[in-house]
Amino acid sequence: MLDRHRPILLVATIAACLVLGVVSAFGDLSVYEMVAYPLVAVFLLGVIVALMRGSPGPRSLLHAIFWVGGATWVGLLAFRLFAPLDALPAGQRLSPDLFLVFVALSVIVFVVFPTREAVRVSAVLFATTVAIGAAWALQVVTTGGDSIHVGRFALYQGLYASIVAMLVILARSKDEHAKTMLDAQRFRELAYADPVTGLPNRRKLDERIEQAVAMAERYGTPLAVVLADLDRFKAVNDTHGHDLGDRVLQRFGEVVQGELRASDDFGRWGGEEFVILAPHTDGDEAAALAERIRARVEEHLFPADVRITSSFGVATHDEAASVRDLIRRADERLYAAKEAGRNRVFGWRQHRFGEDPYALERAGGGLGTRGDDACGCTS
Ligand code: GH3
Ligand code: MG
Ligand code: MG
Repeated sequence: MLDRHRPILLVATIAACLVLGVVSAFGDLSVYEMVAYPLVAVFLLGVIVALMRGSPGPRSLLHAIFWVGGATWVGLLAFRLFAPLDALPAGQRLSPDLFLVFVALSVIVFVVFPTREAVRVSAVLFATTVAIGAAWALQVVTTGGDSIHVGRFALYQGLYASIVAMLVILARSKDEHAKTMLDAQRFRELAYADPVTGLPNRRKLDERIEQAVAMAERYGTPLAVVLADLDRFKAVNDTHGHDLGDRVLQRFGEVVQGELRASDDFGRWGGEEFVILAPHTDGDEAAALAERIRARVEEHLFPADVRITSSFGVATHDEAASVRDLIRRADERLYAAKEAGRNRVFGWRQHRFGEDPYALERAGGGLGTRGDDACGCTS
């Protein structure tokens, strides 16, 4: 995620480097800063080069910036508080610039670390500044120094603490939001998935059919729908129990999926009925696909050595007046395939002879296909 923000990080690092360069050149600096700032500037130059080269990643670089920055400015805090006054430029003992840097470092912590770790690390940084400040305040009070400075220090620390508290709240609510989004996505997936097979359920398929039909209409491309139904599935349940029936349904889903293209959609229509949506596929191609699946299912050994067959009804978008009509046609052909003896594919060639699928038989054709007619279009 941070990778997307590499340019922002690059600009910010260049700006920080320039600021340090200007301050090093023109600022009124203590000895500590005269040594530390150029060193940090060189380190930031290295970060800029790494950001431009793309390695290491922004997260590692931010880690490094945090630790180098943290160590440098904690050292500077100790130096400013404990160094003799004549070792510091005027008014620098409690200059607020230090606290701004601590706030900036805390922001980095919350960007880089997961919330829980960020809270811990920023608390350690804060506690370190408090410990140094407390030791200094004790010294000031016991040596009768100017306690107004102690009050100022407490004020800066208070502001610093309240900003860190805000960061904690922000990070936590961001986490909660992310979790809510994840839960919502999970619920959506559950609402659209069939619990037995894990395949898209009827609700999802309804949406997909609408979308597929809309695409077919818009681009004038073919679209086929195949309805599949397991033959005499009730007998499987009756003989082997409902649990095994469920496993047979799952396996059936896997067998079918093994025959489909990535662009095909497939799901459980309900009960032991399934739907295949095949875009860019005409009636003959869809019937051939159904025939291939029919043969695979017939030869497949299902759990507990169960053998099962399946029947198929194929319809295409170009022959149907609406989505409902498309499904109705596929369903009618599936029903006709059942009536004709099951374990067969009924497609558009039967329909060509009118609404009565048996018309084909009367016209001299077969009743759907059975294995030997691979294209599923006996005529
Ligand atoms: P046909 O060849 O005419 O399709 O016969 P069939 O026995 O497959 O059809 P029928 O409609 O008589 O029975 C369907 C059976 O499918 C009955 C029902 O208990 C079973 N079934 C439906 N959904 C599930 C399910 O989720 N799990 C299991 N194990 N069985 C199911
Ligand atoms: Mg059935
Ligand atoms: Mg059925």
